[in-house]
Amino acid sequence: MSGRVTDAQTKMQFLFALRSKGVTNARVLTAMERIDRAAFLRGLFAERAYEDTPLPIACGQTISQPSVVGLMTQALDVQPRHKVLEIGTGSGYQAAILSQLARRVYTIDRFKRLVTEAQGVFDAMGIANITAITADGSFGLAEQAPFDRILLTAAAEDPPGPLLAQLRTGGIMVLPVGQSDTVQSLIRVTRLEKGFDYEELRPVRFVPLIEGIGQD
Ligand code: SAH
Repeated sequence: MSGRVTDAQTKMQFLFALRSKGVTNARVLTAMERIDRAAFLRGLFAERAYEDTPLPIACGQTISQPSVVGLMTQALDVQPRHKVLEIGTGSGYQAAILSQLARRVYTIDRFKRLVTEAQGVFDAMGIANITAITADGSFGLAEQAPFDRILLTAAAEDPPGPLLAQLRTGGIMVLPVGQSDTVQSLIRVTRLEKGFDYEELRPVRFVPLIEGIGQD
């Protein structure tokens, strides 16, 4: 492979691996075919972009495994008119995929550097429907609430109250829950007319949701 140009075979293998891990939704697969994961990685790691593995990014964080990105996106059931909130911008890869499926995406990270770098990639790709913000995402984004969909890509012990409150009735939130050093569960929360429905999807492992703004 030369630079960031992906040959057809590498892309085919990438999509095949996603399908074999259960990512079968056509819209999700099309979005993942379109968004080049290498653009969100630096140096030598960019060459490993099409492996189904998490990889290091700046600020000691990680870009998630592509099949997990696919399964989470699929579980979120994003529709073209949706307003989506993502907590944990990281590299920006997940947000870029959501941007292909939704009307508008808000993404929040506690590290300013990650938000700035992700915004640079969105701009270079001509993606104009993502707003990236530096803040503690546990509090959500009250001024844009309610959201049709909320996705957390960092693990909380429980679903944060402010995020539950910012979910529209009928809306869906997907998040990893559990302690950071043990196996966590990916759960899907649906807001009902009264209360919430909780569904456990699969075991996962994510970096923890941390309070406050990051110093880097
Ligand atoms: N979705 C990312 C991967 C996220 S890694 C991608 O596609 O690359 C998890 C991210 O959550 C990290 O960047 C970390 O800084 C961020 N994070 C952790 N706690 C947070 C909080 N309270 N508010 C906002 N972001 C947080």
